[in-house]
Amino acid sequence: MILEYKCNNCNQYFKLKAFAKDRGELNLLKNKIVEKCAHCNTEQELILNNIRAKANSWIRFIYIVALVISIVISIIAYNLIEIENTKIHFRRYSFVFGLIFAIPFVIAVNLVALEKRAVKRFNHYYV
Ligand SMILES: [Zn+2]
Repeated sequence: MILEYKCNNCNQYFKLKAFAKDRGELNLLKNKIVEKCAHCNTEQELILNNIRAKANSWIRFIYIVALVISIVISIIAYNLIEIENTKIHFRRYSFVFGLIFAIPFVIAVNLVALEKRAVKRFNHYYV
């Protein structure tokens, strides 16, 4: 999750350096957040309720990452099984491959859900 604020002058969104899980925490951390806009150089005091949360951009690639991890581990596992020279046992190991493929996706689904929940919580709680 990243926090961003809108510049009052140029209406662009910028990433906030501070991090908090909700606006209440942000309020406790700093009672005054002054940011200098990177675009128009205007210094402004930010209004907490105007700061909003957004899902991290890596969350968009997480399924691709999960797929890559699954494939890589599967190849390694397949080679390990081959070293044992038990190609016939491939069927016996198929559940292992199923698990190997599923685990990164289960983790990915959970990370996406966590991120969405964190963003939602931040954006719904006003101070
Ligand atoms: Zn600006």
